[in-house]
Order: sequence, then C-alpha cells, then structure tokens
Amino acid sequence: MHSDPIALARDLLRCPSVTPQEGGALSLIESVLSGAGFTVHRVVFSQPGADDVENLYARIGSAGPHLVLAGHTDVVPPGDEANWRHRPFDGDIADGALFGRGAVDMKGAIACKLAAVLDHLAANGGRPKGSISFLITGDEEGIAVNGTVKLLKWAAARGETFDHCVLGEPTNPARLGDMVKIGRRGSLNGTLIVTGASGHVAYPALADNPVRRIVAIMAAVMAEPLDAGSAHFDPSNLEFTSVDVGNRTVNVIPAEARARFNIRFNDQHTQASLKTLVETRAGAAARGGSFRIAWEPSNADVFLTKPGPFVELVSCAIADVTGRQPELSTTGGTSDARFIKDYCPVVEFGLVNATMHKIDENVPTDDLVALAAIYRRVLDRYFG
Ligand SMILES: [Zn+2]
Repeated sequence: MHSDPIALARDLLRCPSVTPQEGGALSLIESVLSGAGFTVHRVVFSQPGADDVENLYARIGSAGPHLVLAGHTDVVPPGDEANWRHRPFDGDIADGALFGRGAVDMKGAIACKLAAVLDHLAANGGRPKGSISFLITGDEEGIAVNGTVKLLKWAAARGETFDHCVLGEPTNPARLGDMVKIGRRGSLNGTLIVTGASGHVAYPALADNPVRRIVAIMAAVMAEPLDAGSAHFDPSNLEFTSVDVGNRTVNVIPAEARARFNIRFNDQHTQASLKTLVETRAGAAARGGSFRIAWEPSNADVFLTKPGPFVELVSCAIADVTGRQPELSTTGGTSDARFIKDYCPVVEFGLVNATMHKIDENVPTDDLVALAAIYRRVLDRYFG
C-alpha cells in the first residue's frame, strides 16, 4: 500500500466527482482504507427534491480516543475545460504543482490524510492506540443535505462517538501554516419586503411609494454595526445583495419593493437575537409604514472550538513542519464543521486556498508532502 500523498492526490483528481457524482473517488478511498484494515461503509442518502449522494465512513480500532478525519470528495464544476492549461480531471503535474479540480478543495488534503494514516499505522503495528475514522461526504459543494449532516446522524445511530475531528478544508490564505480555523460565523438570509400603493408618478400624494420606505429601512439597518465582535470573531455583518422593484415604466410609482440580504454573525448573537435586532431597527425606520422580513431557514449557526489542548496539538504539529505559528481564525464562509461541532470539537486545517473553485486549481507538490507530514504529527501526538 503506497503512502505517497502526491500519487494519491493525482489518482483522486482523476475521478470526475462533480457534485453529486461519486466519480470513483469514494471507491479509491475505500480500497486504500480497507487495505489498511479499516471497516468501510458506503452510505447513500436521499431527500425529495435533491440528488441522491453517496458518502463513506471508515473506522479502524475500537477503543478511545477516537479521532475523526473529515472531508469531501465532491468538487465544483470545472466550467469550460478549454480554459484550463491542464485539463481538470487529468491530474497533470507541471512546474512543481499538481493541477486539477479539487487539488486544494479538497482532494489534496484527503490524500494527505490517507498517506499520514498509512504511515502512522505502519509505524505502530498496523493498529492505532485508539480509533481513527474517515468521515467523507460527496455532498459538500452542493446543497449539502445528503452529506455530512446525515452521515453524522447515521454514525451516531450506530453508536459511534467521536472525541475530536480535523476537517481538511483549505484554510491557508497564502502559505501552508498561515491559519487554522477554530470556528465559523453563522449565516442567515432574509428578504425585506415593503408594500405601498401604486399611482401616477406626477401625483405622489395619491400613492405610497415603497421605494422611499425601503431606502430608509435599509439605511437604518446598515447604520450601526450589529455588534463589536468578540475575542475570536470579527463584528457581525449585514450585506444587502439585491434591491428589486421590477418596474419597467417611468411614470408609475410601484406597489412593492424588495431587498435581499445576508448576515454573517458571531458568537455575540443567535439567529433569534439577530432577527429581533434587525426587525426593531427596521420598524423604527418604517415609522408605522408597512413592511415585513421573510427569513430563510438556516442550518449555519456560529460555533467556536475554544483554544485548548487539542487546538494546541494541531498548532504545534503545523509549527513543527512549517516553522510557523498558525493564526487561530474564524473567518470565511461556512463549512461542514457547522454540523460536526454538534458531535465533537472540530478544527480545520488544509491546503492554501488561493486557487480553490478557480480555473487551473492546483497545489504545489511540496505542500502535499508537508501537509501529510503535519497530519502524521497530529496522529503521532494524539495517540502518543
Ligand atoms: Zn471544500
């Protein structure tokens, strides 16, 4: 069984696993892990209105502590393949880098985890001093309803319990060792809907223009920060993403105006407290005029894995290999860590994210070697 992260990453990149296609990626992981003594489960989840998606859960060992290595094999579409210098599913290596869709997000990191585990097991008689699991989904880049969220429930129903998790999302802005994610902000979407009364633009007194009111409400909602931030988080932020009246005429006051917005929020807030805050500000600005806010359901709550021995262990492993002390950050978008945090403490560390989701996504092969060494040190320290 080879434990070369470059070869493993190249083989994974050659599996065209655009969400929801498995593309051979889980089969490859299954063959590597079953060869190393893991018990491997392939699980398909379904939901009306969504594609069926296949996932993988594999475990070796039966005792604690139980370390989970999590990730996703699905990738975003490559777009027009003609725009790629190296075709997105060929796994070309050129100029010291491995090219392909998923190179950094995040098949490269999965390959590094596989290589690290194979080496760790080989050095320890083939069994961990505890348990190691792989929790790999094929539904992260899509709507993510048939992936990690269900796989965790499935595992819990089987009696699986986890002590800690390392998720391999690409966390580094520029260089390997820049940043560990120890939490994520929550995300909440809403639409502000203001209704008035339409009429002739030359007779505004006979109408009630909702545009005047929506502008006032938007300004009021944006005027003050939502909070001042906290020890590990930036201030919560509301951004309007679209303002829509849909009026094709020049002489009619419209009857309704809408504005969509997204809030990224920190641990100073809950979804409920944010809704109250925004509705209170909007109500004051509306001065009795009609408006409502339609909130979309959100499964992206804020969370923080408090710095402590586990975060320290991962940081030290990174510093050992890269010579750099990673920043502990909660920036960026959401990830499957928002589901994992309900089961065990989770930290995220992977490759450099500069080319993720882009044309010619690629990873320096040196980074793959270094990341595998980091994961290996995490395993050695964790079970040491
Ligand atoms: Zn990802």
